[in-house]
Amino acid sequence: MNQDIVKLGIRVKKYQRKAYAVWEITLKCNLACSHCGSRAGAKREDELSTTEALDLVKQMADLGIKEVTLIGGEAYLRPDWLMIASEIKRFGMKATMTTGGYGISAGTAKRMAQAGIDTVSVSIDGLAKEHDAMRGKQGSWEQCFKTLAHLKAAGIVCGVNTQINRNSAHDLPLLYQKLVEAGVSAWQIQLTVPMGNAVEHNEMLLQPIELLDLYPLIYFLSLRGRKDNLTIQPGNNIGYYGPYERVLRGANQLESEWAFYQGCTAGQNVLGIEANGAIKGCPSLPSDAYTGGNIRERTLVDIYENAPELRFNDIDEALDTTKHLWGHCRGCEFATTCRVGCNWTSHVFFGKRGNNPYCHHRVLKLAAKGRKERFYLKEAASGKPFDHGIFNLDEEEIGPLNPNSKTQFTLNKTNFPEAWLKEHPNLIESLYIERGMGIKRYIDSGIVSKEESPWYNDTHSATNS
Ligand code: SF4
Ligand code: SF4
Repeated sequence: MNQDIVKLGIRVKKYQRKAYAVWEITLKCNLACSHCGSRAGAKREDELSTTEALDLVKQMADLGIKEVTLIGGEAYLRPDWLMIASEIKRFGMKATMTTGGYGISAGTAKRMAQAGIDTVSVSIDGLAKEHDAMRGKQGSWEQCFKTLAHLKAAGIVCGVNTQINRNSAHDLPLLYQKLVEAGVSAWQIQLTVPMGNAVEHNEMLLQPIELLDLYPLIYFLSLRGRKDNLTIQPGNNIGYYGPYERVLRGANQLESEWAFYQGCTAGQNVLGIEANGAIKGCPSLPSDAYTGGNIRERTLVDIYENAPELRFNDIDEALDTTKHLWGHCRGCEFATTCRVGCNWTSHVFFGKRGNNPYCHHRVLKLAAKGRKERFYLKEAASGKPFDHGIFNLDEEEIGPLNPNSKTQFTLNKTNFPEAWLKEHPNLIESLYIERGMGIKRYIDSGIVSKEESPWYNDTHSATNS
């Protein structure tokens, strides 16, 4: 795969840093999520004024931004949010929004459509009990579905985004069914990572070994979604290059040779803006390490073109695109294309980018060798928005399979719609076989040599590791 990419010029493509901006217009929020990376709640003391915000819209248009997604906090809690949306539209850019989905009435949905917001993603994490607990508000799950109905009635295209963690993973099939029933056609999934509030709630995070169970499940859901008109969109920390890459990243273009992860684009075609005017290459990145400047002090184009904090992915200038890699990523066969996957995910674990424990390829490769990784918190986070702690990562023996683990997510504990189990009475068993085959393929294909693998000559053990 890498050879083809080099031949086709991916590593030398012109940088195109002008596509998409995600703009936190306020940090004020009406939810209190235990995994909130920005620790939203109260507004920032120094949020941009209306005049400054409207000027920033113009600067974005001048820069060549094509789409602006308004986020928070909860974006609609900023009084002038529809004025900002209208201005985005007036300047010829697409206005979209991501919302916690709490309290968007039919009237608000109509006003959103009038302002030119044409696509909205609602955040729903699992079923009602888990969602309400994680989002810190009773009734918030139900509100999400009311919001979806109001948006749909107003003619706005709706999607849903979901955080995958130990609280939500086991209900993914039931949530899938609810989304199909609600007429949702796009579902973005993302692993919860230890940023902001999630650092203190890190027991909710999946350990890398749990990806062995998760990926056969999302592979199955992704295939099923093709029949049910629900496209599962892998977020940037889903992957990479395991047996399901083409299916997960293929969406409706399974035959495409480009259906695989092609590296982080922070600062290239993504821009993140904080409510006080701080500019980053991606909205999720830690503020301390990745803020390139503030539009109160420098123009957007100046920050975009010249701030080194936004240029770490600039392939044109960095001839060695893998020099920052360390740990298992350093020697990885996909290193030049993947470049550690999502830099945000990597950085919030270790305080620097370059090593990503949330990688299916890596987990499978280790499992084929009878090994696994486990992280645990070493240094607490500061308590500021977009902060992170420091985690230690230990490598250890994989140990016996425990389908009924009290703490870990397992396929055995996954809840499926009854109709699915009637349709496929051996569904869970077949997903376990898929799980084992994933490991076995790494040995059969020689990615892990038979000498390195404790499962050699014992395929039964391999499928049950
Ligand atoms: S081990 Fe690192 S470089 Fe290799 S595929 Fe995984 S995240 Fe990418
Ligand atoms: S840091 Fe992660 S979320 Fe941000 S642009 Fe890169 S891959 Fe996407």
